[in-house]
Amino acid sequence: MTPATASPVTPDFDVLIIGAGLAGLYQLYRVRELGLSACVIEAGSDVGGTWYWNRYPGARFDSESYSYGFSFSPELLQDWSWSEHFAPQPETLRYAQHVAERFQLRPHIRFGRKVESARWDEPGRVWRLQLDDGSQPCARFLITAIGALSVPTLPRIPGIESFQGVSCHTANWPKEPVDFTGKRVAVIGTGASGVQTIQEVAKTAGHLTIFQRTPNWCAPLHNGAITDDEQREIKAGYSDILQRCRESPAGFIHTPDPRRAVDVPPAEREAFWEKRYTERGFGIWMGNFRDVLVDREANALMSDFVARKIRQRVKNPVVAEKLIPKNHGFGTRRLPLETRYYEVYNQPNVELVDLTETPIDRVTDTGIRTSAREFEFDIIVYATGFDALRGAYDRIDLRGRDDISLQDLWRGGARTFFGIQNAGFPNLLMVMGPMCALGNIVRSIEYNVDWVAGLLRHMRDHQLSRVEVRPESVDAWMEIVRKASIGLLSNEVNSWMTGVNSNVDGKSERVLARYSGTGPEFRAKADAVAAGGYRELDLNA
Ligand code: NAP
Repeated sequence: MTPATASPVTPDFDVLIIGAGLAGLYQLYRVRELGLSACVIEAGSDVGGTWYWNRYPGARFDSESYSYGFSFSPELLQDWSWSEHFAPQPETLRYAQHVAERFQLRPHIRFGRKVESARWDEPGRVWRLQLDDGSQPCARFLITAIGALSVPTLPRIPGIESFQGVSCHTANWPKEPVDFTGKRVAVIGTGASGVQTIQEVAKTAGHLTIFQRTPNWCAPLHNGAITDDEQREIKAGYSDILQRCRESPAGFIHTPDPRRAVDVPPAEREAFWEKRYTERGFGIWMGNFRDVLVDREANALMSDFVARKIRQRVKNPVVAEKLIPKNHGFGTRRLPLETRYYEVYNQPNVELVDLTETPIDRVTDTGIRTSAREFEFDIIVYATGFDALRGAYDRIDLRGRDDISLQDLWRGGARTFFGIQNAGFPNLLMVMGPMCALGNIVRSIEYNVDWVAGLLRHMRDHQLSRVEVRPESVDAWMEIVRKASIGLLSNEVNSWMTGVNSNVDGKSERVLARYSGTGPEFRAKADAVAAGGYRELDLNA
């Protein structure tokens, strides 16, 4: 990969990749397939990323298992059998381990090391990394596969460190199982992680207290074991499943109904929603009438339908009202899928604390004190989310050309080219960085990794060693991102998808944080860049 005109510096590797989650593993596979030398730096002691760290009770897919796995290897698709429609975390971790072994990726991964800084050396044309073990590997290219939801955040509540019992964040869960049997347990947070945790912990806890600041709209997952017949059908139908994912707006097997909720007669509309409520997965979110996520009237009708479901399922009407979101409409935040979540609130050992009425004053050595009273706990679970999308980038001192820091470049909000490149950061390629399209994540990962690999192949074949996006190309992409965000109700709501995290300085305001157009549109635009010979990028020998 080193052409004649490049500097005399011989890098340790052609490519350094940060992260051995599903994105990093697949990127490593593709880079090695190109005949390039590569090394992955991984903070954990094993592969898996999200599925390595998020070992909390009840963690599982919300995407159908068979729509989530890698598609690049037909043999892998046929050989791997998912056990449930929505596989639990231990199975997905085993899947990541299986992929690492099957494709002989492990020898190229250094585990248990964190990247502290990465600096572009322009004369040497290499990225120089500083790891926490003191080593300083360098490479021609740096690829970040560090995740959109990989930096857990704790609430800014005084006294957290003083608690004498067990404290766990869902995304930094101990490897040894935590036993909740008969224990007094607190869960703070009711997003997708909190909901999955709560419905599992409620089965064994002596007493479970849920501290809720904002309720979320949740809908039934309808998980189940995959029968032998279903397994055969899935394996015979992979090309159809993957085609559906490719064509759907967010990479799931669910596609919107072409009708508008407001045009459908009420009885028919109600029957459609009843049906969706009994079906598996995100159909009720992604397969809803096409106006539900963009039209206030349609959204209000849908919200009313789900509110009625919550009232039917939760016996205590006061508790039911607390569980119904009032400040955002259905589906405008990531929809947690649940299994008897609302029924948990009918259990005598479960209590809901509404933090909008009685906020937490502090964590004490024995529990939690709210403005109303003192609670004692054996275990406190923080299901309080992530410094999302750009959080993992903010934690590495990344320096580009002329010593520009990425934090400075992104001070007024992240600005990227397809979430892949930054102006002033030659040879830094991000897999799913800010402003990329998210959705069903492995579907998006595969596309982004393939795009990056395509660029590397082009550079190898044309003896090019340096790539930097032109600033005007970033401007053009950001304009596309801005336009795509117009009209989506989710962009008017505080959530990690709009870059809001009350526990992180400077992240209290909504920003443009991701490309919210459709997957097919994203891919068409990125494909056009490659097909046009990468004119948006400055490529040099
Ligand atoms: P989240 O959606 O950001 O939820 C965090 C929760 O913690 C919210 O209820 C939040 O309340 C609460 N919280 C944060 N700070 C607080 C504070 N200081 N005091 C009280 N409450 C506080 O995080 P998450 O549940 O970990 O999920 C993040 C994303 O990860 C999901 O949206 C999804 O994309 C992904 N995920 C996927 C799966 C899956 O596929 N099965 C499972 C879990 C997570 P507010 O709403 O008031 O801020």
